[in-house]
Amino acid sequence: MTDTFQAYTGRPAAVGGRALDPVNAPMIRHWCEAMGDANTAYTGPHAVAPPAMLQSWTMAGLGDPRVSGGSRGSGGSGSAATGRSEAYDELLGTLDAHGFTSVVATDCEQEYLRPLRPGQRVLYDSEIESVSGEKTTALGVGRFVTTRTDLRAYDEAAGEKPEEAAPVATHRFRILKFRPAGKVAGPEVVGADGPALRPRPIVNRDNAGFWAGVAEGELRFQRCTDCATPRFPWLPGCNACGSDGWTPEAACGVGTVYSYVIVHHPLPAAFRGQSPYAVALVELEEGVRVVSNVLGLPAAEVRIGLPVRLDFERCDEELTLPVFRPAGADHLPPLRIPVTRTLIVAGAIASRDYQDVHHDAELAHAKGAPDIFMNILTSNGLVGRYVTDWAGPRARLTGISIRLGVPAYPGDELTFTGRVTERDGPRLTLAVTGRTRRGAHATATVRLTLGDHTVEDQP
Ligand code: ZN
Repeated sequence: MTDTFQAYTGRPAAVGGRALDPVNAPMIRHWCEAMGDANTAYTGPHAVAPPAMLQSWTMAGLGDPRVSGGSRGSGGSGSAATGRSEAYDELLGTLDAHGFTSVVATDCEQEYLRPLRPGQRVLYDSEIESVSGEKTTALGVGRFVTTRTDLRAYDEAAGEKPEEAAPVATHRFRILKFRPAGKVAGPEVVGADGPALRPRPIVNRDNAGFWAGVAEGELRFQRCTDCATPRFPWLPGCNACGSDGWTPEAACGVGTVYSYVIVHHPLPAAFRGQSPYAVALVELEEGVRVVSNVLGLPAAEVRIGLPVRLDFERCDEELTLPVFRPAGADHLPPLRIPVTRTLIVAGAIASRDYQDVHHDAELAHAKGAPDIFMNILTSNGLVGRYVTDWAGPRARLTGISIRLGVPAYPGDELTFTGRVTERDGPRLTLAVTGRTRRGAHATATVRLTLGDHTVEDQP
């Protein structure tokens, strides 16, 4: 059976594709509104299109028979307008026939060779790069289909001909076609009874001062009034001299990782969506050590000696805990984005993605999802926005590779964290993660060039 699918490798997915509309300011503005992206590079007479918006130009929209269910008379012309090949339609049909009727996008890798500008027309060709064997996933059994698209553009507004189109981007896209397991990832974390909560601390008269400090945004330790030895965790007496006299002191929040473990298989439901996570023994500048979590970077990158700084994580309405984040200057400030129904729908429509799971809760239910969820183009756009919010309007995105994890549903909050992993002059590589309370929604590698918007987009 695998051979049936392997035969599609290397066959065209789209031939002679042509974007339905030229790159244009109104679609750019709608996209920026949906993403909350105020980057000034995307407005005005010298505007470029948001690079992360790339895929929006080639979407078929409501003309796509895949989203109109073939019930629209114009469905066929929608397919023709985007150049989708018979081979690709046949592959999807064969997957449907094998029961893999549901689809979800899992990965998107984009390389931006030069910026797109209003007035340009986008042309593209696409190839089926691979069809995986049957995989068991959290969503159900299915097969991954990877396509690679090469995009070119010519300046239609300036009278250029299609033959003059120059390469502008490459785009690798992976979808999972699957048989719904009837159970979505993470219901044990957020079920009918609401989210499973992290264990509550036991507050007693010996440690009440510590929790009073946390409530005021301080990490307090004790200092012996007789021998001045600092101590943590909180204890009734001094280990050094036995004195029971002490005063509380607030830590300055600067520390290093003294030791750590990575937890891969947590059992309590409240932790299940976060695995793997790092539990660290952090040595504070004041000389005491604190057991806590290190957040803001992949757990695998926590190491002994890592400089960290204190932060406070609001776990739920009643519980806030002191945590630590990497202290390096190369860390981007976190960005929290409430995932509203409006954001999900606005992002889907701005990216011309009319798949029902992104706007119709009933049909999303029927396909095994608890609610509508964010489309990958929006996730991609938010990653782009997060990085350029930090890097500024003169930075040029040159690539975004994104892998989707848990879906983002209405009511979630997406928290983006990121850091610079490589620097080569003005060229930076960043690791970006967008998490919800269920775990990592998007894990991305972003490449950009600082101060590069003055480069000519034609060689
Ligand atoms: Zn003492």
